[in-house]
Amino acid sequence: MNEIEKLQSELDNQRFIYTNILDGTMAGYFDWKIAEDIEYMSPTFKSMFGYEDHEMPNHPDSWQKIIFQEDLPLVFKAFDEHVVSKGVKPFSAEVRYHHKNGSTVWVFCKGKVIEWNEDYQPLRVIGSHVDITQLKVAQEATKTHAEELELKNKELEIFAYVASHDLQEPIRTISSFASLIESNIKGKLNDETDKHLKFISDSADRMKLLVSGLLDYSRIGKNAPIEEVIPSQIIEEILIDLSVAISETDTTIKYNNLDNFNGYATEFRLLLQNLISNAIKFRHKNRTPEITISSKKTNDMVKFIVEDNGIGIEEVYKDRIFTIFQRLHSKKEYEGTGIGLAHCKKIVELHQGQIWVESTPNRGSKFFFTIKNSK
Ligand code: ADP
Repeated sequence: MNEIEKLQSELDNQRFIYTNILDGTMAGYFDWKIAEDIEYMSPTFKSMFGYEDHEMPNHPDSWQKIIFQEDLPLVFKAFDEHVVSKGVKPFSAEVRYHHKNGSTVWVFCKGKVIEWNEDYQPLRVIGSHVDITQLKVAQEATKTHAEELELKNKELEIFAYVASHDLQEPIRTISSFASLIESNIKGKLNDETDKHLKFISDSADRMKLLVSGLLDYSRIGKNAPIEEVIPSQIIEEILIDLSVAISETDTTIKYNNLDNFNGYATEFRLLLQNLISNAIKFRHKNRTPEITISSKKTNDMVKFIVEDNGIGIEEVYKDRIFTIFQRLHSKKEYEGTGIGLAHCKKIVELHQGQIWVESTPNRGSKFFFTIKNSK
């Protein structure tokens, strides 16, 4: 083999590899010689739109005829920006083509000017086409799904609001008449009747609590203003509100240099108050409660940790406790409605954050939550 044959064989080999890589990645490619007004398009490029090689002449008109006409300016715009930046800004666009069978093909087109004249005008452009139809269809489906979910969530919230709001009045009536009857006839009939009446009024009171909790839940975030939130100040206020429970249980609460942020102050207060009062409520019977609150700022998020030395939570329940009306104990053991942590979750989500717990039963729990620092 002489030198020329060797070079020719090497060239053929490189072309072979190059074509196979492109075919293997299902990418079509083009080579547009602008001055000569010819544009080579590879067979894969053409087959992406259902055409045989000979059915699409190697000329720019061929693809410009089948691209969605409203997407054509996108290609030219991206190309112009690439040219004006002398090749620095990448030339790429996501555009739609009409397939021969009438369907739509989404294409990711990426190119590059490889020859310029002395005035920096493009002479030759090469690039590739990748079929991204499936990706786009999946994206579209996910988007529609997310929109539907959001709508359903809104409907549910409105339902919860209307139901809890409208239920309040009849429950209040039942509760007050039950107590009235109870006080009028207590001791006048038999013990059994007294007991039954007590059940009615206790249940009505509990229902009142649940319904007003649900109403508060559906109101979270409604028309709330964004303002500067100073957690240490909020904790001081909470400590005053909880002072009876704190002194009765000998609770110590530590917090230091907490990060301020912009968010919903009233809601944040409710969030911390729920976590602190739970830490007191679910205290361990053999030790006095100790609560430590800390925070850490990273980029535009602030992470808070509320740690206690209480009864802890078993691993299997650590997600379930954030669902509304979910409780792990009977109301005889610990008072409550099972709404507190659902409130916390909704408030954290209002701040585009997340809430979770790490815990060791009998040792204590660490509630983590993140809050986005709004601009
Ligand atoms: P409630 O306190 O009204 O029961 P929550 O929604 O606040 O409702 O809490 C749900 C459940 O999670 C509680 O019933 C309790 O079992 C568990 N829990 C919450 N906070 C703690 C904590 N700090 N330590 C141990 N268990 C907890």
